[in-house]
Amino acid sequence: MLDRLGTGLKDAMKKLAGKTVIDRAAVEELVKDLQRVLLQSDVNVKLVMGLSKSIKERALDEEPPKGMNVREHVLRIVYQELVKLMGKECEVTLGPQTILMAGLQGSGKTTTTGKLARFFQKKGLRVGVICADVFRPGAYDQLKTLCNKVNVPCYGEPAETDAVKIVKAGIKELKNTEVLLIDTQGRHALEDSLIDEIIELNNITKATHRWLVIDAALGQQAREQAARFHEAISIDGVIITKMDGTAKGGGALSAVAETGSGIVFIGSGETIEDLERFDPDRFISRLLG
Ligand code: GDP
Repeated sequence: MLDRLGTGLKDAMKKLAGKTVIDRAAVEELVKDLQRVLLQSDVNVKLVMGLSKSIKERALDEEPPKGMNVREHVLRIVYQELVKLMGKECEVTLGPQTILMAGLQGSGKTTTTGKLARFFQKKGLRVGVICADVFRPGAYDQLKTLCNKVNVPCYGEPAETDAVKIVKAGIKELKNTEVLLIDTQGRHALEDSLIDEIIELNNITKATHRWLVIDAALGQQAREQAARFHEAISIDGVIITKMDGTAKGGGALSAVAETGSGIVFIGSGETIEDLERFDPDRFISRLLG
């Protein structure tokens, strides 16, 4: 289990291993080390505090299961509590569905929509994409280019400013697809009109999923963004992009906590193939690295 944890925590665990008795002071020292590493990775203070409390309580109260020494027992608790922080497991259904993509401008929403089109296509499903981003000039061309690369139909009306109209027409046009992906507009800040629009799009599409795209580097702002979107359309999955960069993605965990959902995918590069299913072990290892 130790190799699933990053170097930051490994060092702390080694300290623990050198101790003859694992008492309150030893657990507190471990938790302190863990806190430091998590805060450096942009995990929200409240989440870190909650995690610390659970680890401390469990490590001191729970008896190790038979055959497990105290050190292994504490390590197991740390790991289980970290996994809990990642939210619930998000299954990806390989069948007919409509997915509404939400997120701020620059989060990687359009790129991720293209990547998802490719993902479902590779699973043998008929995919269609609608570009409802009427705010950012060039959004349609960008999405269309991505879709053309993999021969996925992409519906859009670059001159139209009414996203609802585009989506209604797109649904008709792409009625033979099994997986319908809808890229919505993002802006620099959360504006009321953006929220009103996405609520309406959610209503007319009767979306099966509403996934929130978050840049790994977003940090503490992730919580507020997620809260607004969640309140509006009830987010049921988070996608963290740009995990190939230096950011560790800890900020995005606030989005997970805020929405009560889990992480569905990880964006790991700029090409259409750079999408990975979320793996808690790898994420934890990076977070604590
Ligand atoms: P949108 O405004 O949310 O639609 O964002 P875009 O999809 O246009 O992405 C913004 C920038 O981030 C583009 O330059 C993308 O190539 C880049 N990008 C998106 N996802 C990733 C990723 O997972 N890794 C890296 N390195 N770049 C990404």
